[in-house]
Amino acid sequence: MEKRNKCPLVKKCGGCNLCGETYEEYLKKKEDELNSLLGEYTSDLYDPHIRVLGMKDPYHYRHKVTAAFSYKKGEIISGIYEKNSHRVLKSDSCFIENETADKIIVTIRSLLKSFKIKVYDEDTGYGLLRYVMVRVGKATGQVMVILVVSDPVFPSKNNFVKELVKRHPEITTVILNVNSRTDSMVLGERNIKLYGPGKIEDSLCNVRYNISPQAFFQVNPEMTEKIYRTAIDFAKLKKTDKVIDAYCGIGTIALTASSHVEEVTGVELNHDAIEDAIENSYKNRIKNVRFIAGDAGDFMQEAAAQGVKADVVFMDPPRTGSTIEFINAIFAMEPSRVVYVSCNPETLKRDLKQLTKKYKVKRIMGFDQFPWTEHLETCLLLERL
Ligand code: SAH
Repeated sequence: MEKRNKCPLVKKCGGCNLCGETYEEYLKKKEDELNSLLGEYTSDLYDPHIRVLGMKDPYHYRHKVTAAFSYKKGEIISGIYEKNSHRVLKSDSCFIENETADKIIVTIRSLLKSFKIKVYDEDTGYGLLRYVMVRVGKATGQVMVILVVSDPVFPSKNNFVKELVKRHPEITTVILNVNSRTDSMVLGERNIKLYGPGKIEDSLCNVRYNISPQAFFQVNPEMTEKIYRTAIDFAKLKKTDKVIDAYCGIGTIALTASSHVEEVTGVELNHDAIEDAIENSYKNRIKNVRFIAGDAGDFMQEAAAQGVKADVVFMDPPRTGSTIEFINAIFAMEPSRVVYVSCNPETLKRDLKQLTKKYKVKRIMGFDQFPWTEHLETCLLLERL
C-alpha cells in the first residue's frame, strides 16, 4: 500500500497521530507492541506470534462524526477541536471520518448564513448552533443528523431541514438536541424530532440495533464485527452453555452469542445502555437473554456466592480494565472459558497477571479498530487450568 501523506492538521488535531507511514509499517509497529507486551503468554500457543488484524481500507471508518463551529475572521468555520483545547480547527474532510457525514456538515455550514443562524460562543454564551453530529448506519445506509443548539427556538427550522434533506436525500432523520450545559459534553438531554423517526438502525453480526442520539454504538462497525466474530469463535460456544457478558454496553456481545447458547446474562453499569440492550433484545425477538444494570464486579461476586455457574464469561471492560473483585469472582464461579476483549493492552496485561493464576491463555488476536491512532484492541481466550 502506498505511503499516505500526513494530514496537514496532524500536529494540532491529534486524531490520527500515527499517519504518515504505509499501513503495513504502521500495523507492524502495533504488532511489535502487542508481542512485546504479551510475549510471556505466547510460548504454548499454536502460533506464538500474535497478529494484529488490520482493515482492508483503513480510511473513513468512523461512522459517527462530530463537528464544532466557530468564527474565523468573520467567516463561519467547522471542524474539530485543537488538541486539549476548545479552539476549532477548520476541517471539511478527514481521512478517518465517514465521507457522507463530512459532506453533510459542510452543507449545514453553508446554509447557516442565509438562515441567519449564529454559531454559539462558549465564552459569551451568545449564538445558537453548538455542534453537529452525524451518525451513518453502515449496513442500512440510514443517516441521523443531530443539530446541537443552545436554545430550542431554531428559526425557520422546517425550511432549514427541507433544504438540507433536498441536498442530502440520504438523510433519514434530523434531531434538534438542546444543550445548555457549560461543560464539554456534546449532547444535552432533550431531543426534538424535526424529521423522520428520531433514530436510525444498523446491524452487527446479523443483529439489528436501534441507535438513538445518546446511544452508545461502536463507531467502526466493520472492525467491531470482526472482533465479535473472533470472540464468539474463541469461546467455542455450545447449545447447552450458560454465558455471562460482563461490561456488556448495549448488549452487543450477548445478543450476538445468544443464538449459539442456552442463555446469556449481560451486566453493565450504565442504565441507559441496559435499556437499549433490553429494547434490542425485543427488536430481534431474542428470548434467552437478560440484562442487569449494576457493577460487574458486584454482580459476579453475588452470583458466585449464590452458587451460580457459567460455562463462559465474556468480559469487555473499559480502558481502566477489570478489578480484583471481578477476577476473584471468576475464580469462585469457575467458568471453563473466559474471553477477554480489551481496549487497553496495559490494563489487560495487569489483569492477566491475576487471571493466569487459575487460567491459561490459549489464543490471542489483536485488532486495529481505530487505524492511525494509538488504540489497540485485543481478544483472548483463557481456559481453566
Ligand atoms: N461490550 C460492549 C461495551 C464495552 S465498553 C461493546 O462491545 O459495545 C465497556 C463498558 O463497560 C461500557 O459500556 C461501560 O459503561 C461499562 N462499565 C464501566 N465500568 C463498569 C462496571 N464497573 N461494571 C459494569 N460495567 C461497567
